[in-house]
Amino acid sequence: MADQRITDIGPPKYDKFLPPIIKANYGKWDFHEVLKPGVMVHVGESGDKLFTVRASSPRLLAIATIRMFCDLADKYCDGFLRFTTRNNVEFLLTEEKNIDPLIADLKKEGYPVGGVGNSISNIVHTQGWVHCHSAASDASGVVKALMDELMPHFENMELPAKLRVAFACCLNMCGAVHCSDIAVLGVHTKPPRIDHTELPKQCEVPTLVASCPTGAIRPATVEGNKSVEIEDPQCMFCGNCYTVCPSVKINNAETDGISIWVGGKVSNARREPMFSKLAIPYLPNNPPRWPEVVEAVKHLVELYAKNARKHERMGEWIDRIGWSRFFKIAGIPFTKYHIDDFTHAGETYKRSVHLKH
Ligand code: SF4
Ligand code: SF4
Repeated sequence: MADQRITDIGPPKYDKFLPPIIKANYGKWDFHEVLKPGVMVHVGESGDKLFTVRASSPRLLAIATIRMFCDLADKYCDGFLRFTTRNNVEFLLTEEKNIDPLIADLKKEGYPVGGVGNSISNIVHTQGWVHCHSAASDASGVVKALMDELMPHFENMELPAKLRVAFACCLNMCGAVHCSDIAVLGVHTKPPRIDHTELPKQCEVPTLVASCPTGAIRPATVEGNKSVEIEDPQCMFCGNCYTVCPSVKINNAETDGISIWVGGKVSNARREPMFSKLAIPYLPNNPPRWPEVVEAVKHLVELYAKNARKHERMGEWIDRIGWSRFFKIAGIPFTKYHIDDFTHAGETYKRSVHLKH
């Protein structure tokens, strides 16, 4: 019954757009291997071979770019392509002879091929100043500056293992910042500023009070306006209140910035998935090229490349040598911001009624 149901709610059934070779070998793949940077082959028990060519994408895609990718897919692989969770574009080919001409065409259009195996894949990022209201930093701008520097590691496979880099522009972390080898995270560092004159006209005070996950907001009458006040020590600068009320402004051009986290991974190879941990609490927003952030990430990549053992992910390497030694060799000062007090969060952060009951 469910198969026959026609609906416009939700995504179409997953197998509707699969290439015929994937349908024919579904669940019956024997092995896969990396043939060269950016190129993989999956071999089915039937002997069928599916070749994948991975190229970078600029993540925020113009329609012209999508059309160009589609034209290349039509030319070389019957129109079959897909986008990975880190915004690489992958062409799915059945003809091995089409691999090199496709790579040549991609390079001619200015799109590098790589990101497979022991390399840096495309950097997944969030919306940044282009779109999201609560961004503490830009996303595509920082990532562009970063990838310009890290591109050799996209195109070769000389790192100890794969290195996943992510960017999110606030601690809501729409990007995979919590589980990436190196994560770049925009941070607000001050509580929101309240426009008490506008607030009563724009916002509902009870909704605003309820929006705060730490219970830092309470109703208050300020200069005759029915407004709110914020208990500063309780605020963790998440910007949730700004989402429901534009009069509670979290963005601050002077104090917003970027933090760097390390050691996360999704894979359960060798050991369980790991959360990223804080390495550098604050770097300034310095558009258009964010030199401090680029320098810090490049330094971490080089440190990892030099010191980790083969197949060791960033977090596995740091765990082996110890976090204190990592901080020492990375030259990162240990500060109060590195103290993980999450175990006490039940008593400190989660005070709002909807989390408590
Ligand atoms: Fe918006 Fe934060 Fe997500 Fe960035 S990470 S897109 S600022 S909610
Ligand atoms: Fe601070 Fe977030 Fe609460 Fe707003 S919602 S007051 S930013 S903790």
